[in-house]
Amino acid sequence: MIAVQEDQQFEVVPTLVPLHVLKARVKAQMARNPALPEVDTRSVCEMLQARLASIDPETEDAEADNAFYVADLGEVYRQHLRWKALLPRIQPFFAMKCNPDPMVMHLLASLGAGFDCASKNEIQAVLDMGVDPSRIIYANPCKQNSFVKYARTNGVKMMTFDNAEELHKIARLHPDAHLVLRILTDDSKSLCKLGLKFGAPLDTVDHLLETSRSLGLNLIGVSFHVGSGCFDAHAFGEAVIRARRVFDQAKEYGYDFDFLDVGGGFPSAHITEGITFEKVAGILGPTVDALFGPEIRVVAEPGRYYVGSAFTLATQVIARRTVHRDAVDQNEFPSHMYYINDGMYGSFNCIMFDHQVCEPKVLLRDGQFGYKQDFMLPEGLASVWGPTCDSIDCISPKSRLPLLETRDWLYFENMGAYTITAASQFNGFRKSEIQYTTTEKEVLIHF
Ligand SMILES: *Cc1c(COP(=O)(O)O)cnc(C)c1O
Repeated sequence: MIAVQEDQQFEVVPTLVPLHVLKARVKAQMARNPALPEVDTRSVCEMLQARLASIDPETEDAEADNAFYVADLGEVYRQHLRWKALLPRIQPFFAMKCNPDPMVMHLLASLGAGFDCASKNEIQAVLDMGVDPSRIIYANPCKQNSFVKYARTNGVKMMTFDNAEELHKIARLHPDAHLVLRILTDDSKSLCKLGLKFGAPLDTVDHLLETSRSLGLNLIGVSFHVGSGCFDAHAFGEAVIRARRVFDQAKEYGYDFDFLDVGGGFPSAHITEGITFEKVAGILGPTVDALFGPEIRVVAEPGRYYVGSAFTLATQVIARRTVHRDAVDQNEFPSHMYYINDGMYGSFNCIMFDHQVCEPKVLLRDGQFGYKQDFMLPEGLASVWGPTCDSIDCISPKSRLPLLETRDWLYFENMGAYTITAASQFNGFRKSEIQYTTTEKEVLIHF
């Protein structure tokens, strides 16, 4: 007889399942539950301070002086609560292209949000978190064949389209799909005009309805996108009115739509250019209620809204160049050029792709910590550059800054949307790493 130890924690079960199958199962399980990093509970200020304090100048080869992010998941959580309070009828499907950060994704999945995916990999990332396929909308109107097949095999039914060719593709590859017609709306009052590429003009809608009818496809409703970085709240109201017209038009083709997707374009929490989420909600909510009965399911695809204000980037001044000019020019031309360790090819791609203006602020100067503080020092004009060898890599051509030395630090707020997601490793510079904290304790129960 073999004595069984009291504290034995596992037993080896003889099995007929081949080893490679077992290994595959373990691998799949691990992919489903990747070890998520720790979530701190300190303030963003304390996180920045602690990280800077931990840098030992003697061990710089360990790259502790790399640029880094502090992400406040509490900010994502507050944005979710705000959404629920102001647009309770509209279900958010997070547009993950904006920032597919695994911690943000996990939190939003746990809070019950859906996801707007544009590719096979994005769909797979959501399914791997254990999210039901019914909580995904494949919101790319122009899809690769094999991706459509992947959606079908994995039970993802909702998808958008805006042209007849796509209808034929879907009829062939995913005939049971629940199709959403993306219409063109006025995007002239937005930073990124998505209408250049997507959206069916209203004079093509009849043809599309007729085509899908003849193909026997299941159309469920309408979607639109007013443009990313929309700065006119009225654009949402006008788009909803257009969508209502298409609902009525569809009736003539025997379609009784019950799904409206009001897209993305919602401002993030920090936006000051006249538009606020409150303003958008104040127009969008009542317009939807006035034009669509309670039997219509309404969803949205916010991206920027959730993450824009949640990420702060800290960068080190790695080099400085003094520009020698006549004293006369001092008030017009930068007198110094600062080179920092993240740039246009990394996090600051948002300057080119997302038309952002990124304002540097002093985080550490001569050993003195300055997050959200005024240094009360004389300021001069300076330009700020990224670390690569390309001259396009300019973050700010002209900023007012006190005189800085190399090893001082700058920080940039509101760096959560369309930054890391499109960062490259051009010239061998790594993407900036992220440290997570939450300023809302409730977030911890989701991890
Ligand atoms: C990019 C995108 C979004 C998100 O836009 P935001 O302006 O970040 O809210 C939503 N839907 C679609 C189809 C998109 O392409």
